[in-house]
Amino acid sequence: MVFVPSLERWYEHHKRDLPWRHTRNPYHIWLSEVILQQTRVAQGKPYYERFITAYPTIQDLARADERELLRLWQGLGYYSRARNLHQTARYITDQLAGKFPETYHDLLKMKGIGVYTAAAIASFAFSERVPVVDGNVYRVLARMFGIEEDITTTGARKTFAALATRLMQHANDPATYNQAIMEFGAIQCTPVAPDCLLCPVQQQCVAYLTGQQHRLPVKAKKAPVRERFFQYLVFRNNNQLAMRERTDRDVWQNLYDFYLLETDEPKTAFRELLLPDTVNELAFQGVLASVPTEAMQLLSHQRIRAVFYLIDLPDTFSGSLPTGFKWYSMAEISHLPKPVLITNYLENTFG
Ligand code: SF4
Repeated sequence: MVFVPSLERWYEHHKRDLPWRHTRNPYHIWLSEVILQQTRVAQGKPYYERFITAYPTIQDLARADERELLRLWQGLGYYSRARNLHQTARYITDQLAGKFPETYHDLLKMKGIGVYTAAAIASFAFSERVPVVDGNVYRVLARMFGIEEDITTTGARKTFAALATRLMQHANDPATYNQAIMEFGAIQCTPVAPDCLLCPVQQQCVAYLTGQQHRLPVKAKKAPVRERFFQYLVFRNNNQLAMRERTDRDVWQNLYDFYLLETDEPKTAFRELLLPDTVNELAFQGVLASVPTEAMQLLSHQRIRAVFYLIDLPDTFSGSLPTGFKWYSMAEISHLPKPVLITNYLENTFG
């Protein structure tokens, strides 16, 4: 497989001098990989250096003050990853006597270490023959071998993993080969402008030979997220709230919510709402009990932006509610199935 040695040779001449490439310390490699999942190399480097200075050993990280650790992490986002780092450092320090797991399979048992990170640590630190498969690797392999499978599918992931494993058998050194293919994807076979003219594997590259570089890898576009604007009228009377079960074929079927008016645009003022006459009359009998509350919930293909208007009806109210609505006490409501958006509103407002 001429591709593998060509890539290793290319790497020797073109690799960037990065601090984590001078170490076989699994803890340092782990840190660098987690940081690089959050940001690009140039931005990640100072973070890596700050972490290594503040916490030179895994025991130092295990003993770290969480607030201090999160402060160092600031700007990288996904704070759960920083917390996972901390927890795993504690686990390794306390439960494994400070000994970092040394195999791909043992690394996978650690919280926050997934297949990519486990492969990176196992190969870079312990020379285990396990391939890394990240976005760069998908791109390089899809182009090189002309793979048309959609990389977002499970089937494609298996195809690429199997190919990567076969290629790894031809590598001189697993660490160098893994670094090489990722670096090659990062600086030579780039997403938008691959440098095909100066590419050492040009004559074996299916994408180059067939002019398909810009079509590969195939990646299905995500369905666009639909924005929806929900205006909730929360009628309250004698410490009871008017709710109904959602029966339409829509989100949250069979869950309970309040009177809902869906609008095409965001609204935050009650007077802007075009309510049916009966509901308008009902609302007219009450008073707005507080400033409207805004909330958002992201579903798989929809983003719901809601505004809640709490309307207090007088104690003497005896009129009827819109069809399907009933009064529920807070105790009863606590047992009703509700969307997260409604539960959060109830907790924040009445909790
Ligand atoms: S020829 Fe172009 S598309 Fe093919 S591997 Fe090289 S840089 Fe990537």
